Amino acid sequence: MQPRRWQQAWREAVRDPRELLALLGLRELAQDVSDAAAAQFPLRVPRAFVARMRHGDPSDPLLRQVLPLDAEMRPVPGFGLDAVGDGAAKAGQGVIHKYQGRALLVATGSCAVHCRYCFRRHFPYAEETAAAGGWAAALDVIAGDPSIEEVLLSGGDPLSLATPKLAELTDALRAIPHVRRLRIHTRLPIVLPERVDAELTQWLRSLPWPVVVVVHANHANEFDTDVDTAMQALRDAGAVLLNQAVLLRGVNDSADALVALSERGLAAGVLPYYLHQLDRVAGAAHFEVDDATALSLHASLVARQSGYLVPRLVREVAGDASKRALTGVDHGRNRPPVA
Ligand SMILES: *Cc1c(COP(=O)(O)O)cnc(C)c1O
Ligand code: SF4
Repeated sequence: MQPRRWQQAWREAVRDPRELLALLGLRELAQDVSDAAAAQFPLRVPRAFVARMRHGDPSDPLLRQVLPLDAEMRPVPGFGLDAVGDGAAKAGQGVIHKYQGRALLVATGSCAVHCRYCFRRHFPYAEETAAAGGWAAALDVIAGDPSIEEVLLSGGDPLSLATPKLAELTDALRAIPHVRRLRIHTRLPIVLPERVDAELTQWLRSLPWPVVVVVHANHANEFDTDVDTAMQALRDAGAVLLNQAVLLRGVNDSADALVALSERGLAAGVLPYYLHQLDRVAGAAHFEVDDATALSLHASLVARQSGYLVPRLVREVAGDASKRALTGVDHGRNRPPVA
């Protein structure tokens, strides 16, 4: 079969740190690049995303998310390999059932972009995907537990699977009466907007459930007109669009950057959902923002923006029944008593 246009763009991704730096006029940064970090988790970034980086800017917020640096290889106490307890929450091959009512399918291990802060950089997802073996194990878990009303496709990036493979899953899910919602967690519409093609939107339109697409952008500069077009196509197909971001030092750790992210998202039809405190995964320590700073940034967002533009600041804690809010205790402290 002919490869789709998005599959071609996928294959043409930049994979050599030196090529990336040359494209950006930043050859002198090569001395900070770590071959060891790149060997552990290779650089991968689609050319459409590279095009949104600022030429000649070593601290570009998009570049910092993908460039393998020496800092990653320094061991830092408290930063380990399975930061979020996924190893313990497996319910079957490629299924993670941690939270009431929702089962997460690790649809695939592949991503179009490799984000240096990602907790999945050490997880052996390649052997443990739900798509392997025609989704059978995942379908067994879901069919056997009537409390599962929502199926989350995650990964890796679930939209890295070809659309017919996704349709295979949803065709089988239709036969499970307790499934009522579908959620897709994906960074592809941001980093490789070509992925949102007619075949994908036709599939989305055909689904019998409300569909929520949670995209992942950390900085306003990740949006451009191609991303706008992709978002519009997803909305036209009936999907509700939300964004999750990770709070990252040197990328979006200022109130201005976070305000701009929410506003730019809204212009594309995407509302903020979560702002995650970093998972403490080995290699990502240099991105961490301490909780006091995170809380003060969040307070500035609350003070400056409409409520719907403020994401929930959360952290994932192994063993918790949901994402844990960092805020909440002090909410309403200054509110007059309700009569
Ligand atoms: C984050 C996560 C979810 C979704 O949680 P929401 O708070 O509903 O967004 C579901 N399952 C797992 C395993 C998760 O990590
Ligand atoms: S799972 Fe998401 S955050 Fe991690 S590398 Fe893939 S796209 Fe990036």
